Amino acid sequence: MEKLASLGGTPVRNTPLFYGHQFIDDDDIQSVVNVLKSDYLTCGPEIEYVEQKLCEITQANYAVVMSNGTAALHAACFAANIQPGDEIITTPITFAASANCILYCGAKAVFADIELDTYNISPTAIEKCITDKTKAIIAVDFTGQAVKINDIKAICDQYNLLFIEDAAHSIGTRYQGKSIGSLADMTTFSFHPVKTVTAGEGGAVTTNDPKQYEQLKLFRAHGITREAPLMQANPQPWWYEQIDLGYNYRMSDMQAALLSSQLNKLPRFSKRRKEISAYYNQQFSAVPSIIPQVNIPESDTTPHLYVLHLDLNQLNTSRDEIFHALWAENICSNVHYIPVYTHPYYKRLGYPSNLCPNAEQLFSSIVSLPLYYGLSDQDVDDVVHAVKKVLAYYAL
Ligand SMILES: *Cc1c(COP(=O)(O)O)cnc(C)c1O
Repeated sequence: MEKLASLGGTPVRNTPLFYGHQFIDDDDIQSVVNVLKSDYLTCGPEIEYVEQKLCEITQANYAVVMSNGTAALHAACFAANIQPGDEIITTPITFAASANCILYCGAKAVFADIELDTYNISPTAIEKCITDKTKAIIAVDFTGQAVKINDIKAICDQYNLLFIEDAAHSIGTRYQGKSIGSLADMTTFSFHPVKTVTAGEGGAVTTNDPKQYEQLKLFRAHGITREAPLMQANPQPWWYEQIDLGYNYRMSDMQAALLSSQLNKLPRFSKRRKEISAYYNQQFSAVPSIIPQVNIPESDTTPHLYVLHLDLNQLNTSRDEIFHALWAENICSNVHYIPVYTHPYYKRLGYPSNLCPNAEQLFSSIVSLPLYYGLSDQDVDDVVHAVKKVLAYYAL
C-alpha cells in the first residue's frame, strides 16, 4: 500500500491540477486583438456574428448573448414573465444562480429533489411540487448530461408551464440526436472560464419564439428599443424609447470574438472531454467504493464536470478526508454543489434542512475531479492513480 501524501508520503505529482481550466490558443488571442484594433469594442458586428454561430450550433432560431450566465437566467425569467407570487421549480444541486434568478423576479424558488443515479432533477419530484402558482421549471443539465427533457416537456404541456433549461454545463450535448439549445422553451448558457467554452465572462439565451427573442433583447439593454413597431412615437432617426425596465447585460465585442473563436473548437473540446470521462469511468469501474453516474441513453453527453460519487459504506472515512487526501496528492478536486437551499441566505428565507434528501446524500459523498481539454494523458493518469491510492487506503 502506498503511503498517502496527507500522511507524509510522496504526492502522486508535484504540481497542482485543478478541476477546470480554460484553453486559450493564438487564434483566440488574435480574434480579441482584432476587435481591439477595430471601431467597435461593444455593440459591434461580433455580437450578431456569434449569435448566428450559436444558432447554428444549437439549431435554435434565435440566440441573445449576455454579460454572463446569471444575466442569461435573469433575462430568461423576464422573458417568461415571471412575477411576484409565481412559483418556479428548480434543482438544489446547482450553482446558486439557477435559483437566484427566480428571486430576482420576486418569485418563489421551489426545490424538487434529484435522482440519485443521474444527479439531475427528478420528473416525479417536479410533479409533486406543482401548485396552481407554478409557472415554470428551471432544469439544469448537471455535469453536462441532459435532463429528462421528454418527461419535463410532458409535465410542462400538462400543467401549462414554461421550460427553461440551464445548459451552463451542457453546450455540445445532444438529446435524442438534437442539440441542447433548441429543445426547451428557452435555454441558457454560461461562458465562464471553467465552462466548456469561454468568453472570459459571458452567457446566452436561445429560443425559437420571436416574442421571447424581443423580450430578451430589450432586457439586455435597459428595456430600450429603437424598433418602430414597438415605439409609441418615432419622430426622428435618433429617437428611442424605454418601454420596460431592463439592465445593462450586454456582452462586449472582445468577449464575443473570443467566444466565436472558442466555439470553433467545440468539437475538439467535446471529443477530449468525452475521452477523459470515458477513461475515468473505465478505470474506476472495478473500484468498489465508487458509484458510477448513470447516463441516460437519450443524452449524448459532452461532460463539463466529472463527479466522483463515493460509496461511504465502503470507506472508513468521510468525503472531506478524501478531499484533503486528494489535495495532498496535488489533485485539487472541488465539490459541486452545496444544495442551494442550505446556504444561510436561503435558510433565512425559511427553507428547512433535509428538504431534498437525495440532494443532501449526494452532496455528502462527492468530489469533482479535473476534467478539461488541456489535461495531458499523464495528468489524467495521475488523477486515476491518486484516486485509486487514496480509496485503497481508506477501503473497508
Ligand atoms: C456557471 C453556472 C451559472 C452561472 O453562470 P455565470 O456565467 O458564472 O454567471 C449558472 N448555472 C450553472 C449550473 C452554472 O454552472
